[in-house]
Amino acid sequence: MRVEDNLSAVKDRIRHACERSGRNEGDIKVIAVTKYVSSERTQEAIDAGIEHIGENRIEGIREKQSTTKGQATWHFIGSLQTRKVKDVITHADYIHSLDRLSLAQEIQKRASEPVRCFVQVNVSGEESKHGLSPDEVIPFVKELKQFDKIVVVGLMTMAPFTEDEHVLRACFKKLKELQAEVVSLELSNVPCEELSMGMSNDFEIAIEEGSTFIRVGTALVGEDS
Ligand SMILES: *Cc1c(COP(=O)(O)O)cnc(C)c1O
Repeated sequence: MRVEDNLSAVKDRIRHACERSGRNEGDIKVIAVTKYVSSERTQEAIDAGIEHIGENRIEGIREKQSTTKGQATWHFIGSLQTRKVKDVITHADYIHSLDRLSLAQEIQKRASEPVRCFVQVNVSGEESKHGLSPDEVIPFVKELKQFDKIVVVGLMTMAPFTEDEHVLRACFKKLKELQAEVVSLELSNVPCEELSMGMSNDFEIAIEEGSTFIRVGTALVGEDS
């Protein structure tokens, strides 16, 4: 399938989810997750009108940046090792995986401009997943006050691997509730207006529950090319 055709199918699904939940389609940004696919396929996505590209490894971002043409905003969506921070902030426009103070300290040390970060939350509590537990989020963002090179633009989560709509919905709802709590703190470097949630299999539910950035790989660019 051409990315263009996949994108129009994804957009239909987005439109329907927005209709069901009374949301504005223009408020949903689609990140094409290109970690499984080639530079050529990534270029096809950019040519089809994709503005946001997501990769879970710094090597992936660097490779795609050097081999694609055209304007794109780059999202680092993988778990981030402290020693890779310098490289990641040089190349990525957003980090979706801020989940510990040592990482914040390293970003503070290395960045010359404020870095847009999502705080990753492990809502489902699955051991295999990265991120703070919901209880840790409020104390964590309060601690970030000391770091003027960090802007928390939002919260991010990965839902559990399940088809159970109730479980998925509860997970996204919880992230939205946490966001409201964070926003109410009115911390100057924590606007927290965005929610990065929803992937190929669950983005409609995520949109119904308030997502503003969906991260779509398989349904958009496929799993390999
Ligand atoms: C791979 C990945 C995605 C995309 O997954 P699909 O199911 O292929 O859409 C989204 N978010 C993160 C963090 C990922 O690692």
